[in-house]
Amino acid sequence: MSCSLADVMSEQLAKELQLEEENAAFPEVVAVAEGPFITGENVDTSSDLMLAQMLQMEFDREYDAQLRREEKKINGDSKVSISFENYRKVHPYDSDSSEDEVDWQDTRHDPYRADKPTTTPRKGFIGKGKDITTKHDEVVCGRKNTARMENFAPEFQVGDGIGMDLKLSNQVFNALKQHAYSEERRSARLHEKKEHSTAEKAVDPKTRLLMYKMVNSGMLETITGCISTGKESVVFHAYGGNATEDKVIPPECAIKVFKTTLNEFKNRDKYIKDDYRFKDRFSKLNPRKIIRMWAEKEMHNLTRMQNAGIPCPQVVILKKHVLVMSFIGQDQVPAPKLKDVTLSSEDMKKAYYQVLNMMQQLYKECNLVHADLSEYNMLWHDGKVWLIDVSQSVEPTHPHGLEFLFRDCRNVAQFFQKAGVAEALNERELFNAVSGLNITADNEVDFQAEIEALEKMNEDHVQNHGKKLSVFSGDGDPPIYDE
Ligand code: ADP
Ligand code: MG
Repeated sequence: MSCSLADVMSEQLAKELQLEEENAAFPEVVAVAEGPFITGENVDTSSDLMLAQMLQMEFDREYDAQLRREEKKINGDSKVSISFENYRKVHPYDSDSSEDEVDWQDTRHDPYRADKPTTTPRKGFIGKGKDITTKHDEVVCGRKNTARMENFAPEFQVGDGIGMDLKLSNQVFNALKQHAYSEERRSARLHEKKEHSTAEKAVDPKTRLLMYKMVNSGMLETITGCISTGKESVVFHAYGGNATEDKVIPPECAIKVFKTTLNEFKNRDKYIKDDYRFKDRFSKLNPRKIIRMWAEKEMHNLTRMQNAGIPCPQVVILKKHVLVMSFIGQDQVPAPKLKDVTLSSEDMKKAYYQVLNMMQQLYKECNLVHADLSEYNMLWHDGKVWLIDVSQSVEPTHPHGLEFLFRDCRNVAQFFQKAGVAEALNERELFNAVSGLNITADNEVDFQAEIEALEKMNEDHVQNHGKKLSVFSGDGDPPIYDE
C-alpha cells in the first residue's frame, strides 16, 4: 500500500513515542556484564582438546555404569560373585592421582595425539613356491597402500576407501603420505600456539577442565566470571551446587586458581623453601607441584584460622592448584578491600581493634604470621574485617617469620594511623603486642636488627638442639632474648 511521506513520518513518530513509553514503564533490567563463564549447559567450545576430553569422560562414565549393571545382573544373589573392576575405564583425566600425570606445560607430549604412522617392514615378497608375490605386485601393493592409510593421523580425511577394495598406486600413496605428515605437523603447531596463548591468561584448558568437572559433578552450579586477576592467582565467582554426604557447599563460592605460569613464583621461594612443614618435600618437587603446594598451604592456613574463629573464607575443596572456598560478599559482588571502603571513624576504630585481635590470634592460636597483611588483603563484610590470601603465611619460627611479621605490623600501623585511628599502635608496639616479645629498640633500624638477631638465634638453636627457642613455644618461659 502506498502512503504519503507525511504518513511515514508520523508512523515513525508513533513508534518512537511508544518506545519511549515502554522504556518508562519497564526500566531496563541491569544486564550482567558478561554471560556465565561455565555452566552446565553453556560451555566454552573453543578448545577441541577439551571437548574431546569431556566427551571421553562422559563416555567412560556411561561405560562404567553399564559394566556395573552387567556385573550386578550376572552376580544376582549368588554367594560367589565376580568383579568387572579390571574392565572399568579409568580415564587418566578422571583419576585424581596427580603423580603420574602428564602436564602439558611440562612436556610437549600430548597423550591424545596419534602416533606417527609405522611403516610395515618390507620383506620384498611373501608366499612360497609358485605363490610368491613380490612387493611389485600391483594388486597386493595397491591394497596394502589402502590399508596403510589407516596409520595416518585420525584427523586426516582419507575418505571411505579403507572399507572397499581400493588399490592405491605407490605414487598416489606416497603423495598422500607426505601430505598427511605435513598436515599433522601443521596442526601440532597450531595446537601449541593456542595453548600458549591461553596460558597467559592463567586458565589453561586443563584448569578449565578441572573447573568444568566441578560444575559437571554438581558441586558448583555455575561459574559466573572472574573477580580478580593477580600476578599469582585468578579468582572466579561461582554459585554453589549440591551438598555431598560430607560437605555443605556455600551458596556462593570463590575459586582461586593459582597461576601455572612459573615466573612469578620463583621469587616466592623464600616463603616456602624454609617453611619446615614443606621442607622435606620442596627439594623433590618440580615447579608444577610447588604451585600446587601454594594452594595446599592456603588451604591449611585457612583451616587453622577457621578453627581459631578468625573471619576468613571457608575451604570447600582443593583440586590440584584450584582452591574453592566460600565467597566473601553477596550476589556476585565481592566485599570491598579495606583500602577501598569508606568507614565512619567509629567503624574504622572497630576495624583496627579487630585486626589487632586477629593478628594476635593468628600468631598465638594458629601459630601463623600472615606475611602479606595489608589493606589489600583485608575485606570489609558484614560489619567486620575478613582476612584473605594466606598462601604465603608462615609459622613465626620460619627463618624470616619475624621479619614478615614486622612488615605486616608496619602496613597495618601505617594504614590505621593514616585512617585517623588515634589509638593505633606504631609498628614496633604492634609487633611486641602481637608476638609477646619485648624488643625495646626505639628506632626502626635497631628494631629490625634485633629481630634478625633473634631469628638467627632461633635458627642456631634449632640446628643445635633440634627444637625452637622457648620464646616461641608460648609455655611461659621468660624470653631468652633479654639476656
Ligand atoms: P592474590 O594472591 O592474587 O592477591 P587473593 O587471595 O588476594 O589473591 O585474591 C585476589 C582478590 O580476589 C582479592 O583481593 C579479593 O578481591 C578477591 N577474593 C579472593 N578470595 C575471595 C573470597 N573468598 N571472597 C571474595 N573475594 C575474594
Ligand atoms: Mg591479595
